[in-house]
Amino acid sequence: MSYVSELMERVLKRNPSEPEFHQAVKEVLDSLQPVIDQHPNLVESGIIERLVEPERQIMFRVPWVDDHGEVQVNRGFRIEFNSAIGPYKGGLRFHPSVNASIIKFLGFEQIFKNSLTGLPIGGGKGGSDFDPKGKSDAEVMRFCQSFMTELYRHIGPNTDVPAGDIGVGTREIGFLYGQYKRIKNAHEGALTGKGFTWGGSLVRTEATGYGLVYFTEEMLKERGETLTGKRVVISGSGNVAIYAAQKVKELGGIVVAMSDSLGYVVDEEGIDLHTIKLVKEVERKGCKEYTAQHRRASYNEGCASIWDVPCHVALPCATQNELDERAAQTLIANGCIAVAEGANMPCTPEAVELFLNNKILFAPAKAANAGGVAVSALEMSQNSMRYTWTFEEVDMRLKNIMIDIYKKSCQAARQYGHEGNLVVGANIAGFLKVADAMIAQGIV
Ligand code: NDP
Repeated sequence: MSYVSELMERVLKRNPSEPEFHQAVKEVLDSLQPVIDQHPNLVESGIIERLVEPERQIMFRVPWVDDHGEVQVNRGFRIEFNSAIGPYKGGLRFHPSVNASIIKFLGFEQIFKNSLTGLPIGGGKGGSDFDPKGKSDAEVMRFCQSFMTELYRHIGPNTDVPAGDIGVGTREIGFLYGQYKRIKNAHEGALTGKGFTWGGSLVRTEATGYGLVYFTEEMLKERGETLTGKRVVISGSGNVAIYAAQKVKELGGIVVAMSDSLGYVVDEEGIDLHTIKLVKEVERKGCKEYTAQHRRASYNEGCASIWDVPCHVALPCATQNELDERAAQTLIANGCIAVAEGANMPCTPEAVELFLNNKILFAPAKAANAGGVAVSALEMSQNSMRYTWTFEEVDMRLKNIMIDIYKKSCQAARQYGHEGNLVVGANIAGFLKVADAMIAQGIV
């Protein structure tokens, strides 16, 4: 049995009932074989064994009182995965599906993503099975305050710096930061995604979506293509999806469909982003409401079949494993030329294999959605300097970082014999920097 297969067996045994974590580890380990073959010292110093084991896992009770005076109890998580190249960094997800497996898969991927940005940030992730949907602002605030009353002792600007993710936007970061500041009596960069007037960075809101599209443009360029005139389908209608759609439109593409967890809308004239933002960000309603304002658009129940809508470019920006083999087959049959992952691990392994075998341009999440955490790291720098950069300055840095990630991933893929395979390239490029730091720091 190969070293990698043996290691995978151990991961399965040690972390039972964690399918998302297994999936994320397997993808990375499969990519690393050519690196291990060339660098036996990685095995000798136990780098990969250490990499698949989080440095610290925190699980805690989050009690709070709802608007009816009833006590509710949720579960909180923070997985501090790897700090070889910088403080742990990664978002908090509030969604009823959150469990240890999901947070561990996200934390593990974050190690490589953060390394790819070229910035000094380690990997971590956290969250809770709390569902902000349908809760009043006061309930969300009480929950966030209780969550932070435990989390504050584990985080800090030089230790661990959480940000947002599914269900955690500026409102939640505000309540979390307020409580952190109150307990610590310190206005410091312990969270990113803050509002601009209280330490946030310009472009953080747009960063993941914009970065995804900068990366997609770079990938298309390789084939002599651009986004101009291309039909684009984007799943989700949250933070990543909305700002990806905005950048696609700016670059001349037409976003013909978007979704949420209940269904999807198709608007052949191009989705009107003003309406989507109003419905999802302000009214916090389902995207079905879009059709009330745009009679030409149609609404379809169920989000999975959004990939049946013909397009040239597909940007899955909702959640993990939302694009399966059948959806991949449909996209390919309909003439899709590029798929870029805005969400984390949105394509199943079978779908990814189909894209790669059919020479579809494929951008894995670790590389393509790294723009959010990159701007978070820029927010950390601005907080340390007590300074703010302009929108244009941050946007320019973001674009350069995305182009650099694309180049690094291509170069690593080529160097290790997998030219054109960005999955392998991103995993290897992200891994090597972390491995170097771990070797230099000894067995810790
Ligand atoms: P949001 O909460 O802002 O939006 C999530 C969107 O996805 C919503 O439209 C939601 O629908 C939909 N969605 C959530 N769960 C499901 C599901 N199980 N099935 C179908 N649709 C679903 O989250 P973000 O936009 O921040 O995050 C989206 C993805 O991008 C996640 O995978 C996240 O990890 C990843 N990501 C986010 C970054 C960021 O900066 N925010 C950075 C890097 C990655 P509904 O409104 O009905 O709930």
